[in-house]
This record gives sequence, C-alpha cells and structure tokens, in this order.
Amino acid sequence: MSMTIDALLREDLRSFGGYKSARSEALAGSVWLNANESAWANPADASGQLRRYPQPQPQPLCARLAELYGVATAQVLVGRGSDEGIDLLLRAFCMPGQGRVVIAPPVFGMYAVCARLHGAHVLQVPLRDGPAGLCADLAAMGDAALAQGASLLFLCTPGNPSGELLALEQIAALASRLRGRCLVVVDEAYLEYAGAPSATMLLAEYDNIAVLRTLSKAHALAAARVGCVLAGAPLIEALRRCQAPYPMPQPVVEATLAALAPPVLALSRSRLAAVADLRGRLADGLRSLACVRRVYPASGNFLLVRFFDADAAFAALLTAGVVVRDMRALPQLGDALRITIGSSEECRRVLAALATLGAEAAA
Ligand SMILES: *Cc1c(COP(=O)(O)O)cnc(C)c1O
Repeated sequence: MSMTIDALLREDLRSFGGYKSARSEALAGSVWLNANESAWANPADASGQLRRYPQPQPQPLCARLAELYGVATAQVLVGRGSDEGIDLLLRAFCMPGQGRVVIAPPVFGMYAVCARLHGAHVLQVPLRDGPAGLCADLAAMGDAALAQGASLLFLCTPGNPSGELLALEQIAALASRLRGRCLVVVDEAYLEYAGAPSATMLLAEYDNIAVLRTLSKAHALAAARVGCVLAGAPLIEALRRCQAPYPMPQPVVEATLAALAPPVLALSRSRLAAVADLRGRLADGLRSLACVRRVYPASGNFLLVRFFDADAAFAALLTAGVVVRDMRALPQLGDALRITIGSSEECRRVLAALATLGAEAAA
C-alpha cells in the first residue's frame, strides 16, 4: 500500500473539519427549516428550485463525471472550473507564506497566480526549447521539488502554451520519485484534443498524483465554470474541507448534466477530429508564410507560433479583427503568439491577415 496523503497535507489543517453547512448534515425530513431559506420561490424563478441551497457536491453530477473520466465517485471533486481545483490544492498543501510549488514556465498562468495569492514560493524550472518543441525537464523539476521541499508540482499536458504531450511513463517516474514528499498535479485541460490516455490511469498506483479536468474547452462550457480534481478519496476529502460550502449553482448542475447526456457527448466528441484536422491545416498554412519563424508541434486546440516580427503579426491580425493571445511577455516567448483553432472560416481569416505581411517583415 502506498504512503498516505496525510503526510503531505498542511499540518495545521489535518484536524480541520471545514464549514458544516445545513446541506452537509445527513438528516431526513419533509419540512426543511434548518437553512434559513425562503418558504416562497422567487417570482422570477419559474422552476421554483432556486430557493433551496444546492448540494455541496451534487451527486448525479459527480457520478456522471466519474463515469466520464473512468474513476470512482469518491475520487471526484467538482468545482468552479479547474481554476478552483488549483486554488484548493494550494490551500490544502501549502502553508501560507512558506509553501513551495514547482512549475515549468512558460505555462498556464493560474498556478503562479494562485501560489502568489496564497503566499507560496514559486520555483521555476523553464521548459527547454529543442527540435521536438518546448519540453518540460521532469528530472530537473523533481530535483527542485526535493531540494527545496516543495509540496506541489504542476505539469500541464498537453502544455498550454507549449503544446507538449507528456507520456504517462514520464509522469509515473516523477510521481514515484516524489512519493510521500510532493504531490504531482497533472492539468489535462486539453487532453481530449490529444486523444491520449489520462494520468487517472496512474491514480491506483500513486496516491501523490492529482489530475485536473475541465468542461471549459472540449465540452464548450467555459461560461458554466465546471472542472474537477480527480485523485485518491482521502485527497478529495481533504480538498472538500477547504472548499466553499455550495460551489455548484443548481442551473449549472442542470446544464452540465444535459451537456453530458450520451447523445450530446457523442456530438461534442465528434468535433474533436474536426479540430485536429483544422489544426493541421492551419499549421501547414502558417508554415508556408514568410512572416512565420516556427509553428510548434501541437496537441491541444491552439497553436504556438513564433514570428520574425511578432509586433507586426499581432497588429495585422488585430487590423483584420482577429484577436489572438499575445505571448510576448512570457519567458522565452518574446516573438510568439498563441492562436486558438477556430472554425475553418476563422482559420482562413488568420492566414489571410498574415499573408499581407509578406517577406519584408522577415527582414
Ligand atoms: C483553460 C485552462 C484551464 C482553466 O480551466 P477552467 O476549468 O475554465 O478553470 C486550466 N488549465 C489550463 C492549462 C488551461 O489552459
């Protein structure tokens, strides 16, 4: 049996029970007068459902997400986007003002933002740029975690913005090395687009892995704010104690269950191949342009692109009404933009806008 996760949790929170909400008490009855809710529905609430507090972890939704991701319901914590999962992991595993986390920049900004808000130190092990693309150095990340006593290490696969896809064996080797010392968080926000196996397959063997999934990208529900942490049941239970009492609004729960009904899910999945096809065609189109220095290998729904003159490229796109993500302030990416894969018409507009730059921008 693997080492218990308790040893990694914040020492001062080990006996912390969290908020005991009216909904979290297992009581039965037909007249509910324990939560100071209104006895009357809001006149604008046609369903009449909104007057009651929702379940803290709505069971039908957790069960559906567990099925979707191939884990047990007790291994799911649902929250307001995977952003909330990142925040909860920081709170549960890092002592404010003392905790340390390891990240590999350039990477998704929320790891460092949440760490900073929590007063945790951010140890940076930069991605390395080579022929295969921007790659995380997992050995160096592990070294940093062990040398500095970090309690959290964030991996992003497919990487945002790198596009790098990590192999499960790499993740397993790192988790094995850090077992009992540091939690390896695997952010799989774009995994559907890669069609690759999830690190949830490693949960049974490594209790120091937590996986982040979101419905914001491949499920097209960014405004619903639904994401989850998937991990061993003791870790999920510990995060739950740190979470707000009622994180999931009832209309969101209902919209999400509708979006995960099998026929709808099949439609969402059928788009993944189209995105991969558009991504390949946009990458080819960009590579043929004079202004493009490099298009990185991609496995998400975006491309990371270096330009000879990124200022001119950004401006030309804006002039054409196309807004892309400016990466120029990120380490190593002073000449890069990140372009989301849009519809085929939107991709065409990207290429048309950049084609006008011609070769003089390359001077
Ligand atoms: C978009 C994104 C998220 C945010 O997901 P939400 O569920 O919308 O909070 C998390 N991680 C990465 C790497 C992302 O790119």
